[in-house]
Amino acid sequence: MLRVGLTGGIGAGKSTVANRLAEHGAVLVDSDRIAREVVEPGTEGLEQLVAGFGAEILAADGSLDRPALAAKAFADDDSRHRLNAIVHPLVGARTGELMAAARPDAIIVHDIPLLVENGLATAYHLVVVVDAPVEVRVRRLVSARGMAEADARARIRAQASTEQRRAVADVWLDNGGAEDAVLAEVDALWADRLVPFEANVRLRRPRPPMAPKIAGYDLTWPAQAERVLARVRAAAGPLARRADHIGSTAVPGLPAKNILDLQLTVSTMDDADALGELLADAGFPRLAGDWADDAQDGDGLWPKRMHVSADPKRPVNLHVRAEETPAWRLALLFRDYLRANPDERDDYRDVKLRLAEAHAADPGFEAYADEKQEWVNGVFARAEKWAAATGWTP
Ligand code: ADP
Repeated sequence: MLRVGLTGGIGAGKSTVANRLAEHGAVLVDSDRIAREVVEPGTEGLEQLVAGFGAEILAADGSLDRPALAAKAFADDDSRHRLNAIVHPLVGARTGELMAAARPDAIIVHDIPLLVENGLATAYHLVVVVDAPVEVRVRRLVSARGMAEADARARIRAQASTEQRRAVADVWLDNGGAEDAVLAEVDALWADRLVPFEANVRLRRPRPPMAPKIAGYDLTWPAQAERVLARVRAAAGPLARRADHIGSTAVPGLPAKNILDLQLTVSTMDDADALGELLADAGFPRLAGDWADDAQDGDGLWPKRMHVSADPKRPVNLHVRAEETPAWRLALLFRDYLRANPDERDDYRDVKLRLAEAHAADPGFEAYADEKQEWVNGVFARAEKWAAATGWTP
């Protein structure tokens, strides 16, 4: 099962995208519709609202008079909290029920306008944001939905900003142009990413190993890593001591394979094992078999658990290590040393580019990894001197 969070500002095109995904076979969970359903006549929700705000919030036919409720509920913070305390748990429970009822191989698309505002990004395997320029959205809301312009602008202003949405977006769908264009992107997203991602999560199947193709440094790597780290922390819960972006993509200016290396710190390897299934459910199956070749550090002296991303479009190596072990410390030292010493970083760049070219045709990539490790081992001694001189700690 795969959980996709779909969000975007009002009028951006969430429903348009959600409907297309549903045509492909996604199970749609629509939070606006759930919010209406839980306060329909005859529901416990409507009864609680009447108890909290009085019978004046009912229309003559016994249904909820939304403007009347809004006048009372948005009058002050207390009232707003009272409204949320009634509605949020009911919406949450119903959402949970619908998700639990989906088949084990479902791709669930949760259409949730307030995903960003409510800080829910880490609950999904993937967050998809639909966006369009404000003026385009206003035009659509006025012409297609008959909203008053001032109302449309006020609604847009009250929502999260484009920057806030960008920070959580794994997929950014620009719907500022023709509808056909965004629908074509949605079709590709479904076929190339969501379908294989779902199968990988369900079958605990890592994406296949990647050739050592070195890409130029990508300025968005830190933000991408932060998004994945937030998900890892949420999945690991209290067993996570910390989680860090490590490896080449964590060193500004260093070209690297487009694989994010992350280190999840736990207290003991028993904790690492206890996390195995939780991480797999969250989209990071544990690596076993052929290419788990570096499941041990330091010739097996310092065990680690290797998990990798099941997302075919966002390669991640997640190294789960126990706190204060030598390999754990070295991962952080290596990163910080290269960040602080551009000459070493550039040396490393040259070594990587040379080795990648020399071993491009090598099917297992082991020779590339082994020879690179020789350079890395050499740098450790210099990094340790630097750590002693500067008082560096992990
Ligand atoms: P949301 O669910 O994000 O509020 P909708 O999907 O309902 O947005 O889109 C808002 C309105 O704009 C709808 O009437 C929809 O048909 C229309 N619309 C969506 N995408 C486009 C597009 N690319 N070009 C023109 N109109 C669009």
